[in-house]
Formats: sequence, structure tokens, C-alpha cells
Amino acid sequence: MKLFSCPACHQQTFFRNTVCLNCQTALVYDPSIMEMRSLDEDLTPCANREMIACNWQAGNGALCESCAATTMIPDLTIEGNLARWMRIETEKRNLYYRLHALGLPRVSKSGKRLHFKFMGDRLAEDGTVAEMVLTGHMDGEITLNIAEADDDVREAHRVAMHEPYRTLLGHLRHEVGHFYWELLVREEGREEECATYFGDARQPYGAALQRHYADGPPEDWALSYISPYATAHPWEDWAETWAHLLHIIAGLDTARHNGIDPSGTGFGNANHLPDAETLVAAWLPLASAMNAMNRSMGLNDFYPFALPQPVQRKMDYMLHLIRNHATLHQAVLAGA
Ligand SMILES: [Zn+2]
Ligand SMILES: [Zn+2]
Ligand SMILES: [Zn+2]
Repeated sequence: MKLFSCPACHQQTFFRNTVCLNCQTALVYDPSIMEMRSLDEDLTPCANREMIACNWQAGNGALCESCAATTMIPDLTIEGNLARWMRIETEKRNLYYRLHALGLPRVSKSGKRLHFKFMGDRLAEDGTVAEMVLTGHMDGEITLNIAEADDDVREAHRVAMHEPYRTLLGHLRHEVGHFYWELLVREEGREEECATYFGDARQPYGAALQRHYADGPPEDWALSYISPYATAHPWEDWAETWAHLLHIIAGLDTARHNGIDPSGTGFGNANHLPDAETLVAAWLPLASAMNAMNRSMGLNDFYPFALPQPVQRKMDYMLHLIRNHATLHQAVLAGA
């Protein structure tokens, strides 16, 4: 992500700030120009500004595009849910920043609209879970179990599932991956082509997941997959790979804006979407340096993943589809 500065005093400010910490100017992020502006410019802030510190400008309605995409918010009569909702929306705006930067639409050709439901498990009177909320995607609707916003819960899941990395942003990037499979693959009639990279997605999904949870991944998964879960079904491979592609693009973009270039290539403008080989060549020295930095602080690795050739091929295909889509989109705009 790029660096932002206060429009009044030009001091650096952060993407999530509602106020300049130097001159106290009230800040509004304007997604149409991807810049920070002053609330004094007679802008209409998102109606969620007071409640959850959303600093975006309102979209077509009272809410910003990101907040408006949440069709179900957590039950705010339950203690802690306001803070959970706030944390999730903060990460969701980060997600939307990247979707905007990549020119990825939030409505598909057939009218499926990306939207979100943030819900908690329903508890019985004795405090046990009566109904569990499963994080997942269906027809553009992403459901997220809000317990993932609690560090202790999420970390416990991460350890139990043997995952090296688990974050709210990671969940969101994975789940929107399913939406972009619908948009870039299914609705474009590319299922057969996509299968040559990810395998045949027509295999029954439920049975595939059951098999994965019962038997675990194949022993040699790391040779061709980004994570063990990616082996469960081609859709999950797509979503896992998609999330990592967004991690890498976002990471390189942020590094470039902060003047960090361990590859020495001067490369890092990931918004121009080069091929996967170029991306990965710029990413590996950065990830390796960041891993070393984290170890020097006694933290877990920054990027505890390997990117074997088959994963890079899958990413290359995704980059091709994203680029292709952006080109088509621009052609439509130019013709309008
Ligand atoms: Zn300022
Ligand atoms: Zn908002
Ligand atoms: Zn998934």
C-alpha cells in the first residue's frame, strides 16, 4: 500500500487514521482517487465513522463502498462485538484498497455482488455452542465467524490446524478468491482451461473436504501447492493461491512505497502486474529479509511459505486473467 500524507500539514498519515496525529485535521479517505482528504473540504464521510472509525468517504448511499458491502453486522447487544466488527471492517477496507488497485470489479457480469455477513456462533443458555458459523463463500456472499477477530481464538485455531499463518486479512483474501473464480473463470467459460492448472473442479466439493479432513494432505503436497488446505479441492487451491498472490502484490507494493528493495532490481510496482516469475523474484529476497527481521525480534516468520514452480504457474495464470479483465474493462470504458 502507498503512503498517505495529511492534506493540511503533509505529515505522513496511515490508511486507517481518522485524524492527523500532527495537526488534528479530520481525515477522509477518498477511494475514487486513492488519496487522503480533509473532512473540511465538505466531504460526506461514511455513516459508520463514529461507530467503527471508518475513515472512508460515503459512496452512493450513506455508507462507503466497503461498509455498504456488509449486509449483516454482528449482534451489537453482545459485549465485545462492536470491537470485533471494527477490527474486521478495518481489514476489509485494506482488502478493498487492493481490489480497487487491481481494477477488480465487485459485481460480476451476471449481477452477483460481493457482500459480507459477519456473525458469531449462537450460544445455548448454558454457554455451549448451539449453532456454529462456518467461514465460507457462496455466490458472492462471504460469511465470516467474528470469533476470528479475537487474537486468542484465532491463534488457538492456527495452532490446532497446524497453520503457519492465520489473519483476518488472510481470511478475507482467501474468501474473495472464490468470488473471483466465479467472475474470472466460470462466467468467462474458462473452467476447462483453469482445470489444466488447478485440476477438475467438478469433483464433489463436500466429499473432497471430508476426505481432506479425514486423511490430511498428500505427503508431497509442498511440491505443487502453497498450503496443505489447497490440496482439498481445486476451488480451495485457487482461493489459497489467490490469497497468496494478493499477499505478494500488497507486500511488494508496500515495500516499494517505503523505499525497501532487497532484490536490488528497483522492481516492486506490483500494480503493473508483471508475470509471476518477476513477482516472485522480487518477493523472495524481501520475504527472506523480513523473516530474518522477525527472527531477530523473536517473532514468527513473516512469510513461512515456499513458492515452487507449479504454484508460480498457477499465479501466472491468475495474473493473466486479472490483466485480461482489466484490459477488457478499459476497452469498455474507452468505448463508452
Ligand atoms: Zn496534518
Ligand atoms: Zn465505511
Ligand atoms: Zn475456501
